Amino acid sequence: MDYKFSTKCLYGNGEKNDKELTGAISFPIYQTATYAHPEVGKSTGFDYSRLQNPTREQAEKIVASLEGGDDAFAFSSGMAAITALMELFKPGDHLITDADLYGGSIRLFNNVSEKNAISFSHINCSQEDIESFINEKTKAIFIETPTNPMMNVVDIRKSAEIAKRHNIILIVDNTFMSPYFQNPLKLGADIVVHSGTKFLGGHNDTLAGFIVSASKEISEKFRFLIKTVGSGLSPFDSWLIIRGIKTLPLRMEKAQENAKAVARYLLSEPKIKKVYYPGIPGSKGYEICKSQSRGFGSMLTFEVESKELALHILKSTKLIPFAESLGGTETLLTYPATQTHADVPEDIKIKNGITDKVLRLSAGIEDPEDLIKDLKQAINSF
Ligand SMILES: *Cc1c(COP(=O)(O)O)cnc(C)c1O
Repeated sequence: MDYKFSTKCLYGNGEKNDKELTGAISFPIYQTATYAHPEVGKSTGFDYSRLQNPTREQAEKIVASLEGGDDAFAFSSGMAAITALMELFKPGDHLITDADLYGGSIRLFNNVSEKNAISFSHINCSQEDIESFINEKTKAIFIETPTNPMMNVVDIRKSAEIAKRHNIILIVDNTFMSPYFQNPLKLGADIVVHSGTKFLGGHNDTLAGFIVSASKEISEKFRFLIKTVGSGLSPFDSWLIIRGIKTLPLRMEKAQENAKAVARYLLSEPKIKKVYYPGIPGSKGYEICKSQSRGFGSMLTFEVESKELALHILKSTKLIPFAESLGGTETLLTYPATQTHADVPEDIKIKNGITDKVLRLSAGIEDPEDLIKDLKQAINSF
């Protein structure tokens, strides 16, 4: 069925739904490890929940429909998804990744994948020439856009063209924009990754991860991997994700509105030195973002005049919690230097501009006046 986005958030593409069985409007949580077989060689389609579980399958179908993918795979966290993704590669392979990625991805690449003899070039994909880093061992380009936390916008179409030209794959971690604002597969990417913990779940209450594949060939590899490595999402967490996605469009619109209001306020505040938000007209990534996304999202990063002020803000907000994570109903303030990006090597942090004066804000769905009032009292009590 060719539903529009908001409808897909409730029904996916409208394929098989449990309603036919019981009439349940809320998809049931199939809390079962295994399934009975009528006889040898016959199966209901479900054999053992590591392979597949109906609740997980429903979450996967919905996410696949939102990204316009061939299939989707639900993992126990974003990092579990990226770890499974790295199983596509073998010793000797080389990947080009943006240097400004989620810190956990860099930690995985540098400490686990490198041990498995996979090598990386961590470059600035929004500025450097990606093509010049490709060699005969290169198998993939891995990007986030906007990047985390510096909000650089990478041109997805251009990256996809480069990947195609060299017969390698383009992987996009689409967590920051969510499928509501950005669909990398439709711009030529081969694989999309999500931390479902963030906007898809949307309520700061569960961890999840997704991989969405553009082709049958890649889907088959992931279907094999998820059953083999056993990091699939549990039935209850799948249900939380299904429920969270129902309101994705409403949350994304409201959170973006709040991010814009906070960005406007921060730009007017003398103690704030820089605001990184792609939705500011004239800012570095604005035009590319507009050309490839349906919005600018609700993540923003800002630099304050001193480390002391940064630390003061983090302990002085009364409404906004100082907490790692993003994409939920609650606005959160994060300190990349000691939280999300603590394990990123110092030289990469300096290259990216992640200093001890940089704060990241994920706008939630509160009243924007309350958010601004809280930030104002925190900044001005310094
Ligand atoms: C949080 C995050 C991850 C990791 O996801 P988890 O669900 O925390 O394991 C990966 N990529 C990005 C961009 C993230 O924000």
